[in-house]
Amino acid sequence: MKPEDAEPSDLSATTARLSAEDERAVDALIDHGFDLAAAQAAHPALAARIAAAHALFTRASDQYPVDPPDPALIDATLARIDREESERAERMRLDSRGVPTLGRGRWADFVAVACVAILAVSVGLPLMNHLGAQREIAACAANLAQLGQGLSAYHGDFNSRPIAAGFAPDLTKLRDWSNYDNSRHLDALAANNYCAAGCLRCGNDSDGSGYSSQVPHDGLNRIWLRQAHIPLVADRNPLVYQTALGGRALVRSIENSLDHGGRGQNVLFGDLSIVFEGSPVLTIRLRDDAAPSPENIWVPANRAGREDSLSAPSDWGAIDVFLTQ
Ligand SMILES: [Zn+2]
Repeated sequence: MKPEDAEPSDLSATTARLSAEDERAVDALIDHGFDLAAAQAAHPALAARIAAAHALFTRASDQYPVDPPDPALIDATLARIDREESERAERMRLDSRGVPTLGRGRWADFVAVACVAILAVSVGLPLMNHLGAQREIAACAANLAQLGQGLSAYHGDFNSRPIAAGFAPDLTKLRDWSNYDNSRHLDALAANNYCAAGCLRCGNDSDGSGYSSQVPHDGLNRIWLRQAHIPLVADRNPLVYQTALGGRALVRSIENSLDHGGRGQNVLFGDLSIVFEGSPVLTIRLRDDAAPSPENIWVPANRAGREDSLSAPSDWGAIDVFLTQ
């Protein structure tokens, strides 16, 4: 073990290096954890060089003895490390709350907000729509209550229901029901201050055609006089509305008025009660001595007593409830 340049003062990174044999001896010592015997046993040809290298390292260690560490310094150092670790963990926790990241917390917040939005759409909007529809139904019922009071007062004064021009229409000359403006009879109530003009039509009546009501006929006057629980006025007849627009009335299907989104219709009865009916087919008693029977308030029964079409007004039997605007 000797440097190629003999003088230690000349040693430098560029001029001093070990011979190849010495390098192998040092490598052997390192490979065997500075176990001299093991390194020499593994490389007997280098035994002397390995012994020299071992002596050199041992001597160097002896020449620069190190004081044993102060236990107090070790404790202080460990305590400092613990404090740094806890402060770092606290910073990480605060950062995850204050700074948007794509970490777990961020997605949890996003999912929570999405859930609230979905709830607002799936529950809040239908609930608001429902409440709005209920308010419209209530306002319509209040209109019909005024209209019913006006009808009752008018009947008390004139002993007759209001009929335009004072006469029942000549149904034999009507081509179809959509040509017949039945609601004009009720206009006399507002014209004579028996109710406000607004009470003659539903708030959702988009074309202002007015409430549907029983078509005047001599044979039906008794119904008005009896004040029985028989439909007199209601929201717009959807079948007549369809034919007025040039369509074909789907008489066979059970259609609710369009005034309340197809949910049903407000109906004013002869006893002045108002009911929001979920179907136009009502079970009613036309005469006190008659059995209750189903009546579609939108369809006129023909002379054979069948409600199977919006047949010509001349075919109407005038024995059933038929409400049209
Ligand atoms: Zn209505």
